[in-house]
Amino acid sequence: MKDIHTLSLPQLQQWMKERQQPAFRAKQLYEYLWKQNVTSFQEMLSLPQALRDLLAGEFLLAKAAFADMQESADGSVKYAVRMSDGAVVEMVLIPSRNRSTLCVSSQVGCPLNCRFCATARMGFSRNLNAYEMYAQVFAARQESEARFGHPLSNIVWMGMGEPLLNFEAVKAAVERVTDPEGMGMSPSRITLSTSGHCDGIRQMARELPSVHLAVSLHTADARQRQELMPIGGKYPLSALSDALADYHERTNNRITLEYMLLKDVNDSLRHVRLLLDFCRRFPVKINLIEYNTHPYAPYQPSDADTFRRFAQSLEEKNLIVNVRRSKGRDIAAACGQLANEKKNSGKM
Ligand code: SF4
Repeated sequence: MKDIHTLSLPQLQQWMKERQQPAFRAKQLYEYLWKQNVTSFQEMLSLPQALRDLLAGEFLLAKAAFADMQESADGSVKYAVRMSDGAVVEMVLIPSRNRSTLCVSSQVGCPLNCRFCATARMGFSRNLNAYEMYAQVFAARQESEARFGHPLSNIVWMGMGEPLLNFEAVKAAVERVTDPEGMGMSPSRITLSTSGHCDGIRQMARELPSVHLAVSLHTADARQRQELMPIGGKYPLSALSDALADYHERTNNRITLEYMLLKDVNDSLRHVRLLLDFCRRFPVKINLIEYNTHPYAPYQPSDADTFRRFAQSLEEKNLIVNVRRSKGRDIAAACGQLANEKKNSGKM
């Protein structure tokens, strides 16, 4: 049976028409699915019983449930989310003063094998579908209001997986989240973060131009990048530079570059110079990120002086630099640490 969430509103309208149902039923059904996120057809009380039975006989209604939850001393909360087929991914809710940001997963595991990443050692199981990503956002919105007393304000596609390898489903999830008939969030509050999938970046420029783009760069030394991030073999730094220039030309958006400082690996003044060179073709904002150690990679974070010097050297050249002190480190919820350590049962 097909999950009903895979049908668009026009497809639901067509389905209703073929069964001699009034057109407004499709809209009602769509709102139950994408505004209220109901978990059974029987909860759709404004639909006639016969129609609910018809839907239940023809479609599945996918569910996502919390399987585990861990709270960090800094307020971040990591959730393991179990999908209908038992697959588990992690999402992280990060509060700040008046807002909260969700880091959402796009794949179960990841095929890209970045050397510093804990998710990589899980291997790759499958892509998430649009509903499975939307369900993370929906749950995070409820959690944000209940826990922190303010609505979910931002979403970053920076959890498990490479979102641009799952572009169609991510795009559909973004459309549901931003649909005024659905959750109604502004696309300007959404960021897709890629490891450098150039075809995906070009597609994003054409099909999701209002959503922000972040690139996990981590070094502007072409050979070193290929070692740290094997995707650099398929899409070398020069190709990434071309894709980003094209992206900027089409969207006029500033691009965020994520740069995680690894001690004695990518934190020298030579690396600063290479990074400055890489940034010449398009406007950027650079997020300098503290590395979080974990058992699956041999790296150490750069020391505080090196970190400061690196940031200063960029700022002296008038680049916008944000220093990201990682949140959720004590619960392995920080950048590169998501790896499904626990999978207990619970309810969303
Ligand atoms: S850093 Fe991102 S793209 Fe690279 S292996 Fe980890 S999850 Fe995949």
